Amino acid sequence: MVERRANTRNKYRKARTAWKLFARKVPSDDAASDRIYEALQHVGRTICACGSTNVKRSEGSRFFICRDCKFKTYFTVGTAFEDAARLQAWLGAIYFAEHNIAISALGYSKIAKVAFATARNCLLKAAMIVASTISESATVIIGNELLPIIFRRSRETPKRSHPQAEQTAREKELSENYKQESEDGEGIDQPAYSLSSLNPLQQQILDLISDKPTSVDDLCVLTSLPAGLIGSAIVILSLEGLIQDMPGGRYVKTMPKSPAVNANVGWITTPPPELIKAAIEFIRQHFQGVSRKCLQLYLATFWCCIDKVSWKEGALISLFLEQPPFGRNALANYVSPLLLRLPPS
Ligand SMILES: [Zn+2]
Repeated sequence: MVERRANTRNKYRKARTAWKLFARKVPSDDAASDRIYEALQHVGRTICACGSTNVKRSEGSRFFICRDCKFKTYFTVGTAFEDAARLQAWLGAIYFAEHNIAISALGYSKIAKVAFATARNCLLKAAMIVASTISESATVIIGNELLPIIFRRSRETPKRSHPQAEQTAREKELSENYKQESEDGEGIDQPAYSLSSLNPLQQQILDLISDKPTSVDDLCVLTSLPAGLIGSAIVILSLEGLIQDMPGGRYVKTMPKSPAVNANVGWITTPPPELIKAAIEFIRQHFQGVSRKCLQLYLATFWCCIDKVSWKEGALISLFLEQPPFGRNALANYVSPLLLRLPPS
């Protein structure tokens, strides 16, 4: 216990030092704006809608003005920074990820001097972006192996149950929804749950998802069906490898590949036990316990910290600039997939 407390102190000490170094480079939200603008300039994206690159900007502002047509462009719009108010904290979260500083939202809120919700938003959305890059061929962890670190509740946790019940509930919900949908299938003869067949609802959802990212909200509007039903179809389609999740809770259709891959779950490979053990230890040490809902995000954070080939400096901020903005409830609606993935594959 004493040792753990000392570890906590050390952990925060490392994070505080890192924050000091970061704050020297990026001392304010305005300075963070400057950094983001520079990054956009670097990739040639400081262009007016009229096509002119003859733009001016005053330091610290979040827009530039076209000298030719006088149009004002807010340059974080259309990027994952779009709704971020505390840009310094956002860049700090990226800096921490790049420098292998894993920290809880509570710790980060103290160090970055932002509200808990802001801290959580920065850290978990950075993790969502990291998670979105995990390839489909990455190794798969069956959630049960991570039960020991699930001891935080989320809104997905069944009432009056231990947080771990969320894992079993999720597995059960999946098969029950399927059964229910089959019964509602108006005489359509549905085989028992199998990864190689879709029910009419799943087929309908699949048909609506194209290569343009679509959110569950969009699908609700298009089908007039409740989000829960659509969510369960999405899980099946993801399991089938027919769709892929994108940041911001959006989905796109997966390009067709060899049928063997989708035939059954027999093809999945699991990470070596040492890697799973290391992931569990990492999450336990830095975040104590987590909810099942966010497990994939913590696994992504772990990956980011151990794989410096994929996650070299500058990689994460580039993704923030390339990704579309997060939806309004992206984090609240985020639910880790049933099959958790952990690269390297
Ligand atoms: Zn212009």
